[in-house]
Amino acid sequence: MRKCSITMTVQISPFNTDFQEFLSDESKRTGTADAITFPTTEAEVIEAVRYANERGLKLITQGARTGIVAGAVPEGGLIINLRSMNAIGEPTADGVVVQPGALLCDLRDIIEPVGLFFGPDPTETSASIGGMAACNASGAMSFYYGAMRSWVQSLRMVLSDGDVISIKRAENFSKGRSFSLTTESGRTISGQLPDYTMPDVKSAAGYYAADDMDLIDLLIGSEGTLGIITETGLRLTPRPAAINGLTIFLPSEQAAIELVNAARSMFAESEAALVAIEFFNHDALDLLRNAKATNPAFEAIPALKDQYHTAIYVEFHAPDADAIEEAAMELIETVMELGGSDEDTWFATTDRELEPIKAFRHATPEAVNLLIGERKRDVPELTKLGTDMSVPDDCLADALAMYNAGLSERGLESVIFGHIGNNHVHVNILPHDMDQYSIGRELYLGWADKVVKMGGSVSAEHGIGRLKVPFLEMMYGNGTIAQMRALKKLFDPNGLLNPGVMFQAQG
Ligand SMILES: Cc1cc2nc3c(=O)[nH]c(=O)nc-3n(C[C@H](O)[C@H](O)[C@H](O)COP(=O)(O)OP(=O)(O)OC[C@H]3O[C@@H](n4cnc5c(N)ncnc54)[C@H](O)[C@@H]3O)c2cc1C
Repeated sequence: MRKCSITMTVQISPFNTDFQEFLSDESKRTGTADAITFPTTEAEVIEAVRYANERGLKLITQGARTGIVAGAVPEGGLIINLRSMNAIGEPTADGVVVQPGALLCDLRDIIEPVGLFFGPDPTETSASIGGMAACNASGAMSFYYGAMRSWVQSLRMVLSDGDVISIKRAENFSKGRSFSLTTESGRTISGQLPDYTMPDVKSAAGYYAADDMDLIDLLIGSEGTLGIITETGLRLTPRPAAINGLTIFLPSEQAAIELVNAARSMFAESEAALVAIEFFNHDALDLLRNAKATNPAFEAIPALKDQYHTAIYVEFHAPDADAIEEAAMELIETVMELGGSDEDTWFATTDRELEPIKAFRHATPEAVNLLIGERKRDVPELTKLGTDMSVPDDCLADALAMYNAGLSERGLESVIFGHIGNNHVHVNILPHDMDQYSIGRELYLGWADKVVKMGGSVSAEHGIGRLKVPFLEMMYGNGTIAQMRALKKLFDPNGLLNPGVMFQAQG
């Protein structure tokens, strides 16, 4: 393949080892590619798509490659990496227009000094806004602020033939499950949405489908299988005047579950909003203790006393500090009844104090990834097995009991942490060898089956990507997967966009 820049402005390079890093994402799976391009404008994305069409090349869209389900890992074809489309417009109280390659951390750096706030907060702040919209990303604060879907007001999406859909919230609705969208060239895409009922839990599994739905919500969370997002209009709100975080240490997991169940409804009348409830089990705290003791990169994590068994992090947002103080005092009373204490609670009342606590949260998946990286040196095929499932409120205790029993019966090393407010914890199984990996995978599949029966989701936030395709099949069944595939065909008749992501590519 020759470099192509004579009749086109976009530069498409044959794939070579200089681009090696673009063959993988944070899943650590590695793929293959024929060519790669870094478009700088939507017009260049369209050119690249047409180039691929003419040559029958598959297309794989990449944001910042922080995804952990291999959605951005190519399996041949042309990689469209959007890192050079990273402009962020002028933020106002009405919102901000952002190119897809802009990173969440850069958006925050621009909006926070002017007193504005954006709710979605995946732990990995180097995620791109386009990738976050494609995956309907969420994070700790989704407990209160919701996932990406509730913050995207408009978007532009390039389709597999180079046509464009430009859509604004509250302008295009399905009628029941029938839908119709008009592209910029005047073409109509119409058909049926899948007929499933989405689980009533936090979920990023499969296409969003509901009766009389806003059609922008179908495109959000479609994991690059329907089109390439080239622009998003985001809602912003005023930054809360007071933001406080409390890291609470408790003597048992049971006490943590009781605290979560109590806290969920405790602040309904309060001026302070409880925006996040996060969980770290005793294995997660041990992993962090060890990381801090042995790796200078983890030096900044606050020291963890030996008696700390389980931790819950909560965050409050309010118009003033007094409202939070009142709410925090109320919570601490319950903490003390459950065996915790105010001396053993870390209070963070300023951005500066919040920083090490956020680092503590981020350090947990980082430490897991490092550990697996070390083990991979001896067993290269090894990967971590990380769950991303959510269950209804009344199933939280049962789900945790199920995870703990399975892990201890099989003698598997693990850590459990995450968004317990949404009944969404990440169980990370840490195998030493491929035998343990197989046992862990079996266990995970069994859990997924039970989570689905509880009315939960097999993916609450990471999406399906390539790695969780069997889990989506388990959740919705083959008939429904066929409906999703039929929907994709309406947008992408030749199956060029992200084939193999969300469901098996059709031959
Ligand atoms: C340490 C760590 C912690 C994490 N914590 C969270 C968390 O708390 N919550 C959470 O939701 N996720 C989390 N993630 C996962 C990841 O950060 C998110 O899924 C994020 O939204 C991916 O964004 P990205 O730009 O890196 O996308 P990529 O990884 O590049 O791509 C992800 C998927 O989106 C598609 N895509 C990317 N950009 C576009 C586009 N412009 N148009 C169409 N499709 C596109 C890709 O094809 C792929 O299928 C975490 C990851 C790590 C490594």
